[in-house]
Amino acid sequence: MTGTLANTDKIVERLKIEVAACTRLMNLEGIMDYSGHVSARVPGRELFVIQDLDMARGDVHPDNLLLADFDGNKVDGPDGLFPPAEVCIHSEILKARPDINSVAHVHPDTAILFTLADGPKLSPVRNHAARWGDGIPVHPDPAHINTPELGKALADTLGSHNAALIRAHGIVVAAENVPAVLIDTVHFVENAEAFFRAAQLGPVLPLTKQEMASFLERFRRPRHIRKLWDYYMGRGITAGAVPAEWAGVAEQALPTS
Ligand SMILES: [Zn+2]
Repeated sequence: MTGTLANTDKIVERLKIEVAACTRLMNLEGIMDYSGHVSARVPGRELFVIQDLDMARGDVHPDNLLLADFDGNKVDGPDGLFPPAEVCIHSEILKARPDINSVAHVHPDTAILFTLADGPKLSPVRNHAARWGDGIPVHPDPAHINTPELGKALADTLGSHNAALIRAHGIVVAAENVPAVLIDTVHFVENAEAFFRAAQLGPVLPLTKQEMASFLERFRRPRHIRKLWDYYMGRGITAGAVPAEWAGVAEQALPTS
């Protein structure tokens, strides 16, 4: 085996632990339930790590994760396991967005409400939602995204944004790595819930462009991702949802500044 391939194997090993941990933590925190999935791009390859179709989200393990290609086909993984029906959400977004290395697709109730009513559009109200200051597009087609064409249509809706709502269905969140996609998804759900609850009090006052610029100017994203990843991993380990030996694995690849 060449050095490069051996390095890739090590990276895939780490990405599988990250995806398994992220999935279990989303399940523990109520962000993911019986469906939804997280992917991780294999650097420099048209491949990504993804879970099996039916595996309970709290049971996802590095040993039962798959490698899929940009057509959504399984290229490696245990016999009898196959990518999720909506694998093309991941293949098409990763194909269209070389700046993105991880995608989460989940179905959070409160965020979906914003696609069901002729009311205000979901926009940033909590400071960390400044990540989506350039807009949160709504994909108009509520269909199960189970073909490359439907996946590409969603990737087109997402465009250069970092999250999108899918009408009557769910959300996609795109980030630079798996820990970041966990933290962004947490913040996306927090923001949707805050907006919804604030609307009970009166007209909502979304963050202004200036407020978001001020927040982002002082925000140290890598440090924030590392802090919250450690926090959620700690909760997962205490709850018995994540094995203690997975702690520290993703942190090896996270910037410290
Ligand atoms: Zn879905």
